[in-house]
Amino acid sequence: MSAALPARPPSAPFTSTRNACKLCEPLGASLAYRGIAGCIPLIHGSQGCSTYIRRYCISHFREPLDVASSNFAETAAIFGGRDNLFTALDNVSRSYKPRAIGISSTCLSETIGENVPMYLKQYLRERADTAPALFYASTPSYRGTHMDGFHEALFAAVSSLTGSDSAPAEEEPGRRINLISSLVSTEDLRELHRILSSFGAPYTLLPDYSETMDGVSWETYQKLGPGGTEIEDIRKMRGAAGTLYLGHPPGSDAGRWLEERHAVPLRHGELPIGIENNDSFFAALADLAGKETPELWIKERGRLIDAYIDGHKYLNGKRALIYGEEDFVCALASFLDEVGVVPVIAATGASGGSFKERVRGALRNTRQPVEIAGDADFVEMLEMARFLKPDFVMGHSKGLFLSRELGIPLVRCGFPIHDRIGGQRILHLGYRGTLNLFDLLCNSLLAAKQDQHDRGYTYL
Ligand code: SF4
Repeated sequence: MSAALPARPPSAPFTSTRNACKLCEPLGASLAYRGIAGCIPLIHGSQGCSTYIRRYCISHFREPLDVASSNFAETAAIFGGRDNLFTALDNVSRSYKPRAIGISSTCLSETIGENVPMYLKQYLRERADTAPALFYASTPSYRGTHMDGFHEALFAAVSSLTGSDSAPAEEEPGRRINLISSLVSTEDLRELHRILSSFGAPYTLLPDYSETMDGVSWETYQKLGPGGTEIEDIRKMRGAAGTLYLGHPPGSDAGRWLEERHAVPLRHGELPIGIENNDSFFAALADLAGKETPELWIKERGRLIDAYIDGHKYLNGKRALIYGEEDFVCALASFLDEVGVVPVIAATGASGGSFKERVRGALRNTRQPVEIAGDADFVEMLEMARFLKPDFVMGHSKGLFLSRELGIPLVRCGFPIHDRIGGQRILHLGYRGTLNLFDLLCNSLLAAKQDQHDRGYTYL
């Protein structure tokens, strides 16, 4: 349990965000849409929003990401963007031939009060025979973060494809498992596939941008490459034995929809980082599949414990500043707590939700004061860190300036990693992902210590 903090000098009052620790809502929605096979994201707003999203994601994934736009100019901003949206839908349908178009609103289209659901009904009435599936997520960035957009998009796809009628789902052999994941790396998604396949039950993993955002090299450019969760597999989610949702969506919840409309039992879990979270994750999968956890993963668990024993002396008692998306920070807090690190600052740019309670619950061994901050920006984190003196910062690459200011190492993980190659391929999940993070952390601290040593050393 965390103890009360000693008095800290108050920060100067400040109302605006300074160096945000969150991203724009349609960015998260676009990423989730690219995790659906044959789906192209479309931003209802200005060209700049889609350009920013493309540029931002390409720097992390090193992969092209097409994001269409309804391309608002002055006229649309004043009189509404219905015609722009229809033109965009026509153009995207003609040039990409997508199976679905995932639409997200923007700050501008929300501010002028665009009724996109009504527009889409009109569009589908006019082009009933030719239109692909259309999903719509309301994603004004002044209301939430990229994670709100991400979960909204998943909800839009699942609710649209599974429908709201309670007719029984098509029978299929085996107990289908629905696994819905919060934002993770492409290597994490591949690991989730490996884990799910090992249980031998049919499953739907949603979203799945492991190929679309981290595919192979092509001989010729393809507008909509392979990969993504098949639309048919999303439809089948309504007949599954249960849904495991990795993460806690603060708003719209696709798992809740499946439970309320289609009686598919839902359980939420933390991202499987650390032994405790992984044990719960594998137990939930075993329960849903009606099978024991395969021996392969029991061995990986044993290897992880062995690594903890080998490396604990380099971590025990260290103090960390961790930041990023709520779900990711909660899972990191649990992992660090079990390897003897005190996350003295756990921060996210998201506000509301159950972040503080979840981090507190994850700190089962920590006895020292901990600052858990929602709605935090990087300047606020720096102010806290000057007082709480962490030994390292752990999170995405936007924390570089914290590490520089504080003179401590940055352990890069999560999203985005803009200043290194391979950020999209960092494995965080599962026993193997935890082992990877553990090695990364130990070696980052050892390297920092070695660099400061007068003569260096070559033997531990
Ligand atoms: S204007 Fe809003 S929706 Fe567009 S990029 Fe900026 S934050 Fe995102």
